[in-house]
Amino acid sequence: MLPPPTCAGARAGAMEANPSVLATVGVGDLVLLDPLSEESLLSNLRERFLHKEIYTYIGNVVISVNPYRQLPIYSAEMVEQYCNGNFYAMKPHIYAIAEDAYSSLRDRNRDQCILITGESGAGKTEASKLVMSYVAAVCSKGADVTKVKEQLLQSNPVLEAFGNAKTIRNNNSSRFGKYMDVEFDFKGEPLGGLISNYLLEKSRVVWHVKNERNFHIFYQLLAGASDPLLKRLKLQRDCRHHGYLGDENPRLPGMDDATNFQAVQDAMRIIGFSEAEVMQLLEVTAVVLKLGDLQLSGQFQASGMDACGIQNIQVLRDICELIGLQESILEQALCSRTVEAKQEKVVTALSVAQGYFGRDALAKNIYSRLFDWLVTRINESIQVRRRKVMGVLDIYGFEIFQDNSFEQFIINYCNEKLQQIFILMTLKEEQEEYFREGIKWTPVTFFDNSIICDLIESGKGGILVLLDEECLRPGTVSAATFLAKLDQAFGSHEHYESRKSQSDRHITDTSLPSTCFRVHHYAGKVTYNATGFIEKNTDRLYRGLAQAMWQAKHTLLRSLFPDGDPKKASLKMPPTAGFQFKASINTLMKNLYSKNPNYIRCIKPNENQAPGQFTDELVRSQVRYLGLLENVRVRRAGYAYRQPYQPCLERYRLLSTHTWPRWTGTARDGVQALLSDLDIPPEELAYGHTKVFIRTPQTLFNLEERRRRRV
Ligand code: ADP
Ligand code: MG
Repeated sequence: MLPPPTCAGARAGAMEANPSVLATVGVGDLVLLDPLSEESLLSNLRERFLHKEIYTYIGNVVISVNPYRQLPIYSAEMVEQYCNGNFYAMKPHIYAIAEDAYSSLRDRNRDQCILITGESGAGKTEASKLVMSYVAAVCSKGADVTKVKEQLLQSNPVLEAFGNAKTIRNNNSSRFGKYMDVEFDFKGEPLGGLISNYLLEKSRVVWHVKNERNFHIFYQLLAGASDPLLKRLKLQRDCRHHGYLGDENPRLPGMDDATNFQAVQDAMRIIGFSEAEVMQLLEVTAVVLKLGDLQLSGQFQASGMDACGIQNIQVLRDICELIGLQESILEQALCSRTVEAKQEKVVTALSVAQGYFGRDALAKNIYSRLFDWLVTRINESIQVRRRKVMGVLDIYGFEIFQDNSFEQFIINYCNEKLQQIFILMTLKEEQEEYFREGIKWTPVTFFDNSIICDLIESGKGGILVLLDEECLRPGTVSAATFLAKLDQAFGSHEHYESRKSQSDRHITDTSLPSTCFRVHHYAGKVTYNATGFIEKNTDRLYRGLAQAMWQAKHTLLRSLFPDGDPKKASLKMPPTAGFQFKASINTLMKNLYSKNPNYIRCIKPNENQAPGQFTDELVRSQVRYLGLLENVRVRRAGYAYRQPYQPCLERYRLLSTHTWPRWTGTARDGVQALLSDLDIPPEELAYGHTKVFIRTPQTLFNLEERRRRRV
């Protein structure tokens, strides 16, 4: 079969010559949509989805619509077909992008990254696993490699147990962002990997909404641990005995917590955790649960104030036994605060509410530090010297909820940065190809979102900096003082809005509450409730609690609290949550920018986790904030199609007597002779060093149509 035309942006590789993008339900590549509009894009996705075609390209970007059912498209035979590069007859598939990335890593020595975005439940984590398992399947089967592959793949169940939870949107929702570099040797065999984690939703440890769950590991542990293990960890099997797990029936259809607990333990062993490490990890996990069982109550004091005291001393005793700490130390840290002023130590009693606040902060801190330790520990096992690298990013998509808080602000900031890098890299890649081919580059106009990134992250007074200033400022700080500060700085910024800035502009809009500010993101306007920003950014843990943890004999727990060492205690505040996130996002961006990008954009078709349902409005909003239309436009800007001369000549030479039945010159001259004979307007074409470029889809359709009539 003759090679067909190629799509804009497709790399010289297997994806470049794929006729299936023309010959499937709707179009397999949205670059070919004609006419192009949000409506046509949406109906193309719908039509394909209803025919179980869940993958569609935009050039070398894959759009994936969650089928919510097992499709027979991930078998070993499928892997075989995609890896043998028999793309001519192949439909758009996530394996195609995995193959493209892997083969250019192996054969052309270019580091790759695969960026997976989409909202919760859209299929990101499944997509990342499909990519990983594809790569694992196509590289060699030697014994060393098998061990490395096992270790890399087994990091999933471990991190999912500690970092995933059932939410209303997704029964197995990742509550953290993950980036994993897989490292390869020069032959393309995997050597190891390195994982980075982002922003674990630690508030879930102490609170979750009805019909959701805490992190899986707690339920797995209670369901799967043997009686002696439970006894040793001082836990009750019934979830309802543990304050942080709630009263509802925690069982999930299709998820067996006990079996998964076994799988997690097996996975930890394969990765290389020792028995002692596993035990310590479970002990710390148990301590977090037990903290939730501590009950505090007011105890009458001579001063007339109700001071906080521990009601169920046995729970305190259990915790202290588990971590090797004197009860009085933990009790004091939970119920009072010590302030050191000059030579004096002043001990003040906490109120019950402050006591609970401290207890919960401790539980959240232990858990999130434990999670960081887990990632570090896995990395110790899998990390090697880097050669070639393929990175896979599975990170939360843009979020617009009814009530948006600090977490959404941070997540949306991250997506703003990903959008920026997406546009820059897409354009960069286009520009580089034009340069290589010696074709004049015409600048493309696109919406540059750096203005929004700056609004959020600028070191010279962006929202995050102002928030930090407010958190560190002495005196009374509140959501109101923070908002006033924002208003003063951004009152006239075109991407910022608040009650104050509206009234300055004589706008009356009652939909914006006075405690909120609104950011006009590239993907839409989001109203953030400023209440809670300060507290969440500071992420306060009473120093006494960190110091108590540091005094524990439990080596793992103690190692999680280096800041509890009084010798190291500085008067400086620890870095804020916003500051840390900004730093890690910028490191990530640098890392991604140095690699060749591949994109998987996931879409959730309905809110019911149901197969075969496509809710137009839901998909439309995702199409908008994934910026798909913009994506197609950028890909079409300049020249929509390109194709190497030889396959182009082969495909269309039958259309001209100059080239049919025989052509003896170079392929380039042949294509030129052929296309001028066909009366294609010269402005539609550009002749590069190795490829011909076609400006609009219509010209390509026209060629295809003429060819169809001839054959
Ligand atoms: P996200 O990580 O985007 O929140 P997940 O990857 O966890 O979403 O997907 C949510 C659920 O959707 C999965 O547990 C699975 O049941 C289903 N799902 C996702 N992708 C696929 C797929 N390609 N095939 C079948 N089911 C899928
Ligand atoms: Mg996920």
